[in-house]
Amino acid sequence: PATAELEAPQHADVAALLPTPGAESDKYRRGVVGVVAGSARYPGAAVLAVAGALRGGSGAVRYVGPAGDAVIARFPETLVSAGPPAKAGRVQAWVIGPGLGEGPDARRAMKDVLASEVPVLVDADGLRLLDRKQARRRRAPLLLTPHAGEAAALLSVAREEVEGARLASARRLAAEFGATVLLKGSTTLVADAEGPVRVNPTGTGWLATAGTGDVLSGLTGSLLAAGLAPREAASAGAYLHGLAGRRAAGRTGAPIGASEVAAALAGAWADVAS
Ligand code: AMP
Ligand code: MG
Repeated sequence: PATAELEAPQHADVAALLPTPGAESDKYRRGVVGVVAGSARYPGAAVLAVAGALRGGSGAVRYVGPAGDAVIARFPETLVSAGPPAKAGRVQAWVIGPGLGEGPDARRAMKDVLASEVPVLVDADGLRLLDRKQARRRRAPLLLTPHAGEAAALLSVAREEVEGARLASARRLAAEFGATVLLKGSTTLVADAEGPVRVNPTGTGWLATAGTGDVLSGLTGSLLAAGLAPREAASAGAYLHGLAGRRAAGRTGAPIGASEVAAALAGAWADVAS
C-alpha cells in the first residue's frame, strides 16, 4: 500500500487526545466504563481489565460479572454489580470479553451490551460470541481488539493469512463488522473500513505475555467512556500501553507481568501529557 495509507501518531498527537479533568468535572461527567470480564476459571482477566480501566481517564469503573470479590480485593474503588449488564447502572462505554468464557451468562451479557446505545469494545472471548448481523445493526460505535488468531477466526481464514496481510485484514474486519479494529501484535494497527490505518509506534516484545491484552482493553474502553472516538481511543490506548510496557521492562529489557504493565500506565500517561 502507498505510505499515505498509513500514519503513526507521535507523543504530541496522543497528548492532544487525552482527557484532562477541569473545575467542572465530576466522576459521572468524566465517564463511567463498564467492564464485563472474568469467570470462575479466569478471575484474573477481570482484575487486569479493571486495572487498565482505572488508568484510562474515565471517572469510575463499574465491574459486572462473577469475579467481583477478586476485583474488589485488589481495587476497592471499583463499583461492582452481580446481575446482567442490562440491570447495572448507567455506563458511557462497555468493555466485554477478557476471560469471559462462552457460557449462558456470557452470551446473555453479550446480548445486553450489544443492545446498548453506548460505545462497545469487544475483546478475547467476546469476539467468539460476536454475531456479525447484531454487530452491523448497532448504531453506537463498536471497537474490536483481536490478535491475529482472533481476527482469523472472525474472518474464517487461517491465522497465517491474517499475519501475511495484516493491513488488509484489519480493514476487511472493519468493513464486515461495521467497526473500528485494533489488530494487536508486534505491530499494532488501528483501522476503519476507510481512511488511513494507524500504526502504533510504541511497544516491546516483552508485552507478549499473558494478560497484557486484558489491560489494553480496559484502558481503551476507559478512554471511550471519557469521550474519545473509537479510532482515537484505540490509538491512544495502544500508544500508552506500548509505552507502559517499555517503562515496566526498563531500558535494557527484563521480563514483566501484565500487572506491572498496568501499574506503569500512570507514568506513561504523565510522559505523554507533559
Ligand atoms: P493478547 O494477544 O490479547 O494477549 O494481547 C497481547 C498484547 O501484547 C497486545 O497489546 C500485543 O500488541 C502485544 N504483543 C504481543 N506480541 C508482541 C510482540 N512480539 N511485540 C510487541 N508487542 C506484542
Ligand atoms: Mg487477549
